[in-house]
Amino acid sequence: MSDFYVSLIPTDVNWQPTKEAATEVETYVRRVFPDPDGVQQDVTVEFYDRITVVDAGENIRQITCPRCDQNIPLDWYGDLVEETEGEFDSLIVTVPCCETAVALDTLTFDWPSGFARFEIAVANPARTEYTFTRDEISAVEAILGHQLRQIVAHI
Ligand SMILES: [Zn+2]
Repeated sequence: MSDFYVSLIPTDVNWQPTKEAATEVETYVRRVFPDPDGVQQDVTVEFYDRITVVDAGENIRQITCPRCDQNIPLDWYGDLVEETEGEFDSLIVTVPCCETAVALDTLTFDWPSGFARFEIAVANPARTEYTFTRDEISAVEAILGHQLRQIVAHI
């Protein structure tokens, strides 16, 4: 069985909150994502040293280049993530379609994917409304003082 994740990441790939704000967010997320049995789901709040892939995993079916509008082979992206272990100091890569330098976070993924140095994740949410609602995202943004994106992944 594959794992299912919903994550919130900052829109700025390098941005990180204070430890205090992260702790406050974790408390909030555990409250709005109750897990009655305490066994099904896992809430994690992560600080990454380097810019790290937070992608949609198996949900990704198409990646499009912002320069030439051609599709980028999924294998090329998969190999890149494997070689780098999903960690980057710079998101600038030479894409295979048009051989130009493009930032990974400007590629168009058919399913939201991102790159971040901070992530709040709920693995295998126990509640029926399994993604963060717009109001919950706004509440977390208010705690952190930064805009967020939601990533939904099967890994
Ligand atoms: Zn291209």
